[in-house]
Amino acid sequence: MAKKCVRAIFPGSFDPITNGHLDVIDRGMKIFDELIIAIGRSPVKNQLFTPEERVEMIAELIRERQMTGISVESFDGLTVEYAAKKKADVILRGLRSLTDVQYEFQLAMTNRAVAGIETVFIMTSEQYGFTSSTLIREVASLSGPPKAGRIPAGVAGLSNLIPNSIYERLKQHLKK
Ligand code: ADP
Repeated sequence: MAKKCVRAIFPGSFDPITNGHLDVIDRGMKIFDELIIAIGRSPVKNQLFTPEERVEMIAELIRERQMTGISVESFDGLTVEYAAKKKADVILRGLRSLTDVQYEFQLAMTNRAVAGIETVFIMTSEQYGFTSSTLIREVASLSGPPKAGRIPAGVAGLSNLIPNSIYERLKQHLKK
């Protein structure tokens, strides 16, 4: 019997993409043949990067890390409609903690009820259990712009939580 090619979408805001997201993507690629990182265009609170910038940054990361079978796109509207359009077999979501489970459980049940699509959950590594794009945006906005060319200590600390090229983009962004 021919092996089925499994295509997954990984929807989220990815504002910005973190090492936690990347960990889930790397683990996901042990299961899936194809993965589309799908950036929802619905406005996020305190947006840091535009959806276009996020697509560009992630595309650069995919090229840099030579990640095969992975692509990135942005989409409008319902995730399940986008999944159907892309002929995705499953939706991938990452889990950090029990707090994530409650919300993700409801979301997965709703998506299955309305569109019959399954969600696959992948637990992140312990070291990324506290990493969230929302908190990264907060640190970046509360730290403010560089003073006398110096990157605020809080922002410098983010280099442990996000990929290097994303950290460089963040520093450029804060200088604007
Ligand atoms: P966030 O919830 O951090 O604002 P997203 O909306 O981009 O990020 O999340 C997309 C998906 O990635 C969700 O399933 C979310 O639970 C998951 N995710 C986010 N951060 C992590 C992490 N550190 N480890 C594992 N999964 C994560």
